[in-house]
Amino acid sequence: MTVDFNIIKKALNYAAKNSGFYRKLFQGIDIGKIDNLKDFESLPFSDKHDLRAAYPLGIQAVPDDKVVRIHASSGTTGKSVIIPYTKKDVEDWSLMFARCYKMAGINATDRVQITPGYGLWTAGIGFQAGCERLGAMAIPTGPGNTDRQLEMMVDLKSTVLCATSSYALLLAEEVNRRGIKDRIHLKRGIIGSERWGDLMRSRIASILNIELFDIYGLTEIYGPGIAIDCPCHKGMHYWNDYFYFEIIDPDTGKVLPKGEYGELVITTLKKEGAPLIRYRTHDLTRIIPDPCPCGSIFPTIDRIIGRTDDMIKIKGVSFYPSQIESLLSEIKGISSEYQIIISCQEGKEVLTLKVEATDICARDQIVSSVCNAFKTNIGIKIDCECFELGSLPRSEKKSKRVYDYRQC
Ligand code: ZN
Repeated sequence: MTVDFNIIKKALNYAAKNSGFYRKLFQGIDIGKIDNLKDFESLPFSDKHDLRAAYPLGIQAVPDDKVVRIHASSGTTGKSVIIPYTKKDVEDWSLMFARCYKMAGINATDRVQITPGYGLWTAGIGFQAGCERLGAMAIPTGPGNTDRQLEMMVDLKSTVLCATSSYALLLAEEVNRRGIKDRIHLKRGIIGSERWGDLMRSRIASILNIELFDIYGLTEIYGPGIAIDCPCHKGMHYWNDYFYFEIIDPDTGKVLPKGEYGELVITTLKKEGAPLIRYRTHDLTRIIPDPCPCGSIFPTIDRIIGRTDDMIKIKGVSFYPSQIESLLSEIKGISSEYQIIISCQEGKEVLTLKVEATDICARDQIVSSVCNAFKTNIGIKIDCECFELGSLPRSEKKSKRVYDYRQC
């Protein structure tokens, strides 16, 4: 589908006129003269640290009486970013989210157990608003309290589980451990907020006997629900009536041709409260050039393969955790969980990969397979430690996998 530049231009004019943040960013640029995509691609990017500098409400583009709600991104490094929403923004988000559910084959007869957190974070309330808009039954359990979670799942016969992949795995393993598989009625899982590998997917899907759908989004841009898998599982459809997506080379900022992997940059086309122009997500993916076999008119991006800031560099070699997941998925007898420990021993960088064996008797075989696969695929020699299944920590939110203790 070709892009109608007039829609992008309208969004650009709106942001340049109403947002103090963009007025400042575009100082010295004649926005009236931005007439085509090439001009547009010369505009500066905006980034999370810019938004942080506008804390608390510097990106608000409407008068106070139009703002009905705020959300905030997590403030693990410095101040959080506060995003104001108008009534229309909230409605648009729920409409997009309802589309996500429909795309995943969910309808008004479903019972949707929502385990992501509620509150300042955008997740839980987004899942809920979309569910209500669709007319399905929301079961807003929120995160944690696994006993209650499973009680609801069994008694209310939940058919859909919304969760982070880490929490979905924790729940699946608990279902397995308690032997309550035949009392579970789940059919689908909507899984978001962290990147996850094929091993984790197949483990969750096989224990719970459900079809899994990746959902994508970020707090700065409504929240989850801006893209989702379809039943073909060939990529995530995104709502191009609400967003303009670009893929750039994260080092040079140059826009890459369709099909190439790079950093996703998003422009919002309808957002009122806090419009964003050329916003760098730091998520690595690609726009899939071919139409999806499902026949949807909405284009697709590939799964998120990592973030520009989680690249690991050791002994001069760069790679992403997704590459580790993909090589682990080729090794038999291993679980989906792993940890990467990077340290310095006698002035040398050492990478230790901790994994779990489904059958601990195969430990030696696994260790040698992992080390060989690493050497062949990534090109460095590593140490591998193999533990019994369930030894590595499970998480109710996102799993921390990389521990870098280097000081050399
Ligand atoms: Zn599709």
